[in-house]
Amino acid sequence: MPAGKVAVISFDVEQDCPPYLSTTKGMEEGLPRLLDLLAEKHVKATFLFTGDMARRYPGLARRVVEEGHELGCHGLTHERFDKLQRAEAERRLEKATAILRSYTDNVVSFRAPNLQRPRWLLPVLAKLGYQVDSSSARYKPPFTRRPGRAGELLVVPVSVTSSVLRLPWRLQAIIHRRLAPPRVYFSHPWEYVDMSRAGVRLDCRFNTGEKALELLSRLIDSLRAEGYRLLTLAELADLY
Ligand SMILES: [Zn+2]
Repeated sequence: MPAGKVAVISFDVEQDCPPYLSTTKGMEEGLPRLLDLLAEKHVKATFLFTGDMARRYPGLARRVVEEGHELGCHGLTHERFDKLQRAEAERRLEKATAILRSYTDNVVSFRAPNLQRPRWLLPVLAKLGYQVDSSSARYKPPFTRRPGRAGELLVVPVSVTSSVLRLPWRLQAIIHRRLAPPRVYFSHPWEYVDMSRAGVRLDCRFNTGEKALELLSRLIDSLRAEGYRLLTLAELADLY
């Protein structure tokens, strides 16, 4: 297996802190700030939108594509696919895919909401033309450690949970150093909005807003200083 020092910065684009809130400050405030930061740093990232957010915020979905980022799929309405019947799951995925592909034909990466992707969804994704599934995690059973093939699909685990990227820098730096490449990071637009007064659990609130943006900027600088190449999920699939 190749790879070398490669990392993916990705964002699951959804309503604020689902299923606890239904507000969309992340879309209105967080996502534009993220796009500005990535443009300033010349980083291409992967944005996995729910079909719902892509339909409600066409200007943002268009901006993601126009600025050279990858547009991927995060379900239709942030549903748990492991709780759906297959026919319903398929119907929802088809609908989300059609919405996303109205912005670009090149929608090939998927991440299941809550990282809950039943195994039977893999052939459904392949049939719809997906090439990458990034719904597993190194830190969650069955503890998938490295990318692997499942038929047509490359299955790429995420490396750490999103709130790690909001820990004080010294603490998260220790965690990053221990992560083998490819490092796959993910977070959400709502983490870049001040959620300190939202009635949600602590891990959805601490260091959100400006602080989270500063920490992401620091992570990007640190990856580059270590010689990491920053790729999209689709670009990562080309390496395997
Ligand atoms: Zn999500």
